[in-house]
Amino acid sequence: MHEENIDPKNCSDASDITRREVLITLGVLCGAVGAGAAGWGFLEGIVALRQPVQSWHKSVCRFCGTGCGVLVGMKDGRVVDVRGDELAHNKGVICIKGSMLPELTHIPSRLTSPKIRKNGALVNASWDDAMGLVASKFSDAIRDYGPDSVAFYGSGQLFTEESYTANKLFKAGIRTNNVDGNPRLCMASAASGYVQTYGKDEPPGCYADADYADCFFLFGANPYECHPPIFERIRQRKRLHPETVIICVDPRRTMTAQHSDIHLPVVPGTDLLLLNSMANVICEEGLENQQFIQRYVRFNDGEKDCDFARFREFLKGYAPEKVEQELGVSARDIRRVAFLFARSEATMSLWTMGVNQRIQGTFLNNMLNSLHLITGQFGRPGATPFSLTGQPNACGGVRDTGALAHTLPNGRLVTNPEHREEMEKLWKVPAGTISPRVGFDAVSLFRAIEQGSVKAVLIMCTNPGTTLPSVARYQAAMEKCFTVVADAVEDSETQRHAQVVLPAALWIEKEGVTGQGERRYQLTEKLLDPPGLARSDLQILVDLADRLGHGSLITARSPDAVWDEWRNVSAGSFYNFQGITYARLKTQRGLQWPCPSTEHPGTARRFVEGEDPFVAKGAGIEFYGNHDKKAIVYLRPYVASPEKTSAEYPMYLTTGRILEQFHTGTLTDRIQELHDAAGPAKIQINPQDAFVLGIQDKDPVEVKSQYGTVRGEARLTDVLCRGVVFVSFYDSRLLINRVVADNYDPASKEPEFKVTAVSVRKVST
Ligand code: SF4
Repeated sequence: MHEENIDPKNCSDASDITRREVLITLGVLCGAVGAGAAGWGFLEGIVALRQPVQSWHKSVCRFCGTGCGVLVGMKDGRVVDVRGDELAHNKGVICIKGSMLPELTHIPSRLTSPKIRKNGALVNASWDDAMGLVASKFSDAIRDYGPDSVAFYGSGQLFTEESYTANKLFKAGIRTNNVDGNPRLCMASAASGYVQTYGKDEPPGCYADADYADCFFLFGANPYECHPPIFERIRQRKRLHPETVIICVDPRRTMTAQHSDIHLPVVPGTDLLLLNSMANVICEEGLENQQFIQRYVRFNDGEKDCDFARFREFLKGYAPEKVEQELGVSARDIRRVAFLFARSEATMSLWTMGVNQRIQGTFLNNMLNSLHLITGQFGRPGATPFSLTGQPNACGGVRDTGALAHTLPNGRLVTNPEHREEMEKLWKVPAGTISPRVGFDAVSLFRAIEQGSVKAVLIMCTNPGTTLPSVARYQAAMEKCFTVVADAVEDSETQRHAQVVLPAALWIEKEGVTGQGERRYQLTEKLLDPPGLARSDLQILVDLADRLGHGSLITARSPDAVWDEWRNVSAGSFYNFQGITYARLKTQRGLQWPCPSTEHPGTARRFVEGEDPFVAKGAGIEFYGNHDKKAIVYLRPYVASPEKTSAEYPMYLTTGRILEQFHTGTLTDRIQELHDAAGPAKIQINPQDAFVLGIQDKDPVEVKSQYGTVRGEARLTDVLCRGVVFVSFYDSRLLINRVVADNYDPASKEPEFKVTAVSVRKVST
C-alpha cells in the first residue's frame, strides 16, 4: 500500500458539518440554478477539508471512464474521506459520485457468501461447493457440446488483470472465443470506427487537448453530467479564452447544451446527415486542408479506394438544403458549424453514447474522424477527435486486452492466422489452440443462450439483466442456461435469473490497473479487506482455471504477476507499454501508452512525431496501423433507422445516464445521498407533448414500443424537444430497456439504445 505524504493540517480538522448536509445543499443548488461540475468539485473540497483523516492514499475513482485520480483518506482502517487528486489529470476535480466513494465502502446488501439456487431460492454455500458446481457444469457442457457451449460475459469495470486472465482462460484454455461483455454495449462503435480509420483502436488525443482547443464539437455526449471534470476543463478553457466556441449536438437540451454556445437539436437517428452535410460544406467551400489530405489521407468508398473528387461528388447528396428538414437543423446552422469546425485554430470533437449506441454507430465514428482528417484538425494540441468512454476500464481492460469475441490482445484478431500464432507463442500453447471462429458478441450471446446453444455462462461485474436491449427476452433466456454471476452486491436483475452467485471484492478491496479514456493506465492499490467471504474476481478466475484443469496455463496468480505478463505480451505490438510497471504506477499519476521503456514518459498524442515512439523522424504524422501509414476517409451513406415514428408509435425514446447515478445503479443507488439526490427514474416528456396527451407532471404514464412496455411517473421538462421521451436506465424499478429496440450496428454489434419509436399515454395507476 502506497501512503501519500500530505500536509496534516489539510486532513486532521474535526468535521463540523456532515457530508450529507453539504450534499443536500448541493442538491438544492443543482436543481435550482444548475450548479456545474465546478460547483460539485468546489463544495466537495470543503467536505474533504472537514473530515478527520490519519493518512491519505493515491487511488482512482471506481466509477466512470473519466478515471479521476483521487486521494483516499483513512482512519483506523476505515475510509473516512475522498478528495480529488490535484496532481492527477483531473486536477483535483471530481463529481458527486466520486465524492461519495467513502460511502461506497459500506453500502448495504453486500454479497458476503457464495450462493447456490435451491428450490428456487439462492442459499448460502461454501466456496468449495459453489465453485465445484460451476466447474462441473462448465466441464459437462464442454464435454457434451464442445467449448463453444460456454461463455464469459465480462465488464469494463473489472481490473485489467482480471479481464486479461478471463480472456486467456477461455480463448487459450477452454478454446472458445465466446468472450464478450458490457463494453460491447457502450464503446464498440468507437472501437470499430478507430480501427477502420487508423488501423488501430483507442483515441489519438488526450484530455489535455481541452486546454488548447478553441472549438469544441460535443456530439451525442453530455459531459456536464456524465464526465464532469472534462466538461469543467472545457468551461475553464472558455473562461480563460471567451472566444472559444462550444457546439453541442443532441436531441435533448441537456445541461451540456445549456452551457454551450450553439445547440443543434437533431431528430433522433438522423445525425449522419449532419456530419455528411458538414463535410459537403467543407468540400464545396474550399475549407478542406489539401496539404494534410495529400500527405496523410486515403479515401475509400466502402469497397475500394477512391479519390477526393469522388468523396466530394458523394457528398453532393447531403447539401444542407437537402437534409435540413429530416435532420431538424437549418441549413444556415449546418454551414455555420462547418465553418467553425474547419476554420478554428484547433477543434476538439468529443462524443460518446449518442454516437456509439446506434445502428450506424461505426459510420458516425468514421465521419467524426473524417471531419478532422479532411480539415487537418489533427495532431496539434487541441485539434483531435476524441471518443469519451463510459466505464472505468472499458479501454484498458477490454479493448486493449482483446477481451471481446472477435479480438485478441493488443489489436489482434481471432480471424487472423498470424495473430493467433503470435498469441499462441506468447501464451505458450500448442499451435492451433485458439479458435479461428469469432465468438458471440453481447446480444448474439444472449440470443444463443435463448436458443439453447450456450449452456453455461460466467457473468462478472455487470448486470445484463438490466442493460441489454429488449431485456425481458434475455432475462427469460438466462433461466435456460447455467448462469453464474460474480458481483459485489446482492439482488441485481441478473442474479434473479442465476443459478450460482459469487461474492466479489469491490474497488480498493483488491488491487489492479484500469485504463481510462485517454490511454492512461492507473493503479488502484488494496486498502481494505473485502467483507465476509468475498474474493477478487482474479481469485475466482484462478480457482475456476484450476478446477477446469487449466492451472498450468494461468500461472500468473497475483495482480502484479498478471500485469508483468501482460506488459510482456504488449511488447511486440503498437500498444507497447512495457515501461508501465507497478513500481511507476505506485508513484506516478498514471502513464499513457505507448510507453515502451521505463525511461519513456508515455504518449499524450498518438501518431504524432516527437510524441509517439512509433512515428519515424521527419514523418510528421504517421498512421502506422494501416499498411500505407495513411488514415482512411470513408464515404458513409446515411440510412434511416428502422425505428420510424408512426401513428401507433409517434414519439422517439432515448435513454442515458444522469449525474448522480452510474450505469444500472447497483452501486450508486445504494448510496443514500445519491439515491436521495436522484430519486426514482422519471419518464421525461416535453410540456407541449404532455399537454396534447393530457399528461400532467407526476402523472402515472405508460411508455410502449413494439418490444415492451413500462410504467412510471411523468416529469415535464423542456430539456426534451417535442416528440422525444427520455428515461435514464439506472433504475430497475422502471426497467426502460424492456422498451428499447433490439437493433444493432452490423459492424460493431453495438445496440441502438438511442432510437426507439414509442407511444406514451396516461394510465390510472
Ligand atoms: Fe471522475 Fe467519473 Fe468518478 Fe465522477 S464518477 S469522480 S467523473 S471518474
